[in-house]
Amino acid sequence: MTLSPAFDLPPSATPFASADDIAVAAEVNRFAREVLAPDSGRIDREAVFSAFNMHALGEMGLAGMNLPERWGGAGVSPIALYLSIEEVAGACASTCSMLTAHFLATDAILIGGSDEQKAHWLPDAASGRTLGAFALTEPAAGSNPADMTTHARRSAEGYVLSGLKHFISNAGVADFIVVFAVTDPHAANRGMSAFIVPKDTPGLKVGPPEPTMGIRGGQIFEVTLDAVAVPESARLGPEGTGFKTAMKVLDNGRVEIAATATGIARVALGASRDWMQERKVGGGPIARFQGLQWMLADMATDLEAARLMGLNAARIRACGKRFSREASLAKLYASEAVGRITDKALQIHGGYGFATSTGIERLVRDARILRIYEGSSEVQRNIIAGTMLA
Ligand SMILES: Cc1cc2nc3c(=O)[nH]c(=O)nc-3n(C[C@H](O)[C@H](O)[C@H](O)COP(=O)(O)OP(=O)(O)OC[C@H]3O[C@@H](n4cnc5c(N)ncnc54)[C@H](O)[C@@H]3O)c2cc1C
Repeated sequence: MTLSPAFDLPPSATPFASADDIAVAAEVNRFAREVLAPDSGRIDREAVFSAFNMHALGEMGLAGMNLPERWGGAGVSPIALYLSIEEVAGACASTCSMLTAHFLATDAILIGGSDEQKAHWLPDAASGRTLGAFALTEPAAGSNPADMTTHARRSAEGYVLSGLKHFISNAGVADFIVVFAVTDPHAANRGMSAFIVPKDTPGLKVGPPEPTMGIRGGQIFEVTLDAVAVPESARLGPEGTGFKTAMKVLDNGRVEIAATATGIARVALGASRDWMQERKVGGGPIARFQGLQWMLADMATDLEAARLMGLNAARIRACGKRFSREASLAKLYASEAVGRITDKALQIHGGYGFATSTGIERLVRDARILRIYEGSSEVQRNIIAGTMLA
């Protein structure tokens, strides 16, 4: 059985969206239903990267949805970007994870890079000809990047990078990796720099994919940097600006995680509504049971709130204002809401939800990572509280 994004569901009104944004979302919905959804079950079962989907995303202009037209991107608004990610996530969360990890890498170049770097890397990445990865996390440095030990030492030709990154999405299939490393161990977060490292650089080794609970086709890898020499021109921005770049990239990324969450939640809600009307128990549809009706209502309420918060963060981003707080609020709420919504969807489906054939248990597994990566729920709460306390 193939689950696909339910575009007909309430909330049908999408606040802050222009007619152009809605038209983009409708087109991506069609593409996601027809091209991405049919293969999503196999991608999950076999835990494989889909080069076909990457190519298709490139052809549709989706691989560069986050980039301006000047650098080969689609040049769409943050609202259209949000709505498009929702559609991709609803059709295939693995593909969406691969895509949003690619966005982290290209956003880092867009935010931290020079025009030469942007001209060199972004047009190919925007067209899907190349794939990026974003390597911040290390075995002993996840929630707190200041624990990072990967370092970049100055050399006559540029820098030599050494260290170990792990849980890096796309790394095994990426063409370039944006690597964060310490350039000044005495300067805390201001001692971190970002480098664009082409995948074939000597000394860079990528391990096999690490098996995971969900988004199994959005593979993650360990990346070893064994004296990897890069020229000075590989550094993004001035030395010491890596942390600042990473945090700006993650502001964008957190809104994209909220969109992923509401995309998965919409599918769970749509499938539950349909199932309640189809499934007969005791001579009638289970939709007549008030206990289940209330579950459906709670799911719709949670989804509406999550979507409003995500679209609000996208709206503030579109105004060019700082949106870190709204991005954290949206990421925290949406990633937790999709957990509640997918759990209720499984309950409404009974044993059919637990069986793999309906695809409902996959939604539960795919949604779970959203509370962990790009800053766990606890980290988001720290950020939100930090904006209120001196
Ligand atoms: C599928 C997947 C894909 C990923 N993709 C990427 C990628 O592409 N690039 C990349 O760089 N990383 C990636 N990551 C890494 C991910 O971002 C980290 O796993 C995440 O940031 C959490 O870090 P950690 O796993 O080290 O957990 P830890 O930091 O060890 O956290 C353990 C627990 O402690 C809690 N905690 C930590 N600090 C605090 C605090 N100050 N207050 C309260 N609670 C706290 C956490 O919330 C968590 O519950 C990926 C991970 C996964 C699983």
